[in-house]
Amino acid sequence: MDLFDDFNIRAKKYFADIQKNPVYPSPSSVGALQQLNVPLQEESLQADEVLNMLDAIGSPATVKSTGGRYFGFVTGGSLPAAMFAKLLATVWDQNTALPVMSPIAATLEEIAANWLLSVLGLPADAGVGFVTGATMANFTALASARHQLLMNEGWDVEAKGLFHAPEITVIVGDEVHVSLLKALTLVGFGRERIIRVPADDEGRIIVDKIPGTDAPTIICTQAGNVNTGNSDDINAICEQVKNKNTWVHVDAAFALWAAASPRYKYLLQGIEKADSWGADAHKWLNVPYDCGLVFVKNKEALVKAMSSAASYLPTSGMREPFQYVPEMSREARGVAVWAALKSLGRKGLAELIERHCSYAQQFAEQLRKAGYAILNKVVLNQVLVGFGDADTTQRVIKRVQEDGTCWCGGTVWQGKTAMRISVSSWAHTDEDIQQSIAAIIAAAEKECA
Ligand SMILES: *Cc1c(COP(=O)(O)O)cnc(C)c1O
Repeated sequence: MDLFDDFNIRAKKYFADIQKNPVYPSPSSVGALQQLNVPLQEESLQADEVLNMLDAIGSPATVKSTGGRYFGFVTGGSLPAAMFAKLLATVWDQNTALPVMSPIAATLEEIAANWLLSVLGLPADAGVGFVTGATMANFTALASARHQLLMNEGWDVEAKGLFHAPEITVIVGDEVHVSLLKALTLVGFGRERIIRVPADDEGRIIVDKIPGTDAPTIICTQAGNVNTGNSDDINAICEQVKNKNTWVHVDAAFALWAAASPRYKYLLQGIEKADSWGADAHKWLNVPYDCGLVFVKNKEALVKAMSSAASYLPTSGMREPFQYVPEMSREARGVAVWAALKSLGRKGLAELIERHCSYAQQFAEQLRKAGYAILNKVVLNQVLVGFGDADTTQRVIKRVQEDGTCWCGGTVWQGKTAMRISVSSWAHTDEDIQQSIAAIIAAAEKECA
């Protein structure tokens, strides 16, 4: 059979079965992966044999996060337009470093970048880079901040490095995402010299506790706490603390998309006053993995921080994708982002966000009505539920996961063990939500009886 047909049949079957299969793979499916763990053979295999093996052993061991009942980790689903666009881009196999290498990849990246700035209400002339995820987006933004703050001090960090450079004060909130701390260490700021500011019971920085300083300072704020979904008061932080020596960065991995919703953008009030933003397209925009986005108000700071001027690289006068990111060669991530935005439209994106937030409300209301504790203010798409003491809650989570109707993970929120429900896939239907709530309540009743 033709390989395209073969692929088509396999992919269609995966999708046809996705709502029937348990959301999480069975232990036996995961165990069967060891069948692939053999020494590499000498002889070549036909592509169809390789695909067959991958589908037969690999597909049953996948987490069905593209289906409608996965609520773990703010993973997001995969919009059909974005998924097929990415598949087509894989067929094209374009290198996105330079426009001369791929006019289509460079063009779509530029179009998608402009649409993103517009739909998110960010400054129209900000620099935009397409990276692997929010960790790299934050890293790239922080490198831009490092460039600009040290340039203001007369120090060219790209030329001279950080040794003997003027010091930069780095401030984070106590509920900072661990990956942001990693990004800070990668740009040379050192975990132990970072100043942590206390956060409130929703995970937001207590603005009055931010130390005032005239020294070069990076303040790392957060939009969308992974537990509560709530955001720092970025407007107040920019109004009260920002001066010419401070750079305000926003880690907005999933919540940046709320800026596209007239109903929820109040949570991000004032974000356009910040200097840089990191976000994920693979989370709430429902672009397939992987795709992160970095936005920097001062485009020149981004380009200077990422510059790798080399004489053999032609300059085209066009936007050159590699000048906005750490990588040189890479895949055409702009294609899937373009397709996601094109298929949703402005209204569709707002509706996606709003539908998920209203599903989160339904989870919270019905679980509360059934007698369980909702531990956060459900302002966005995140719900934290407690089922009694830590042990009971852990047992309920395990039972929910084993039942397979839906999948939710666990967390500890400010000392309390909780089940975390993240609503973030286009594929969720009203019925999925009702079935999942029923499955959670059934599991809780068995454990709490
Ligand atoms: C997911 C997340 C990250 C890390 O994003 P990756 O895409 O996994 O690199 C950073 N910050 C926040 C708030 C997140 O939710």
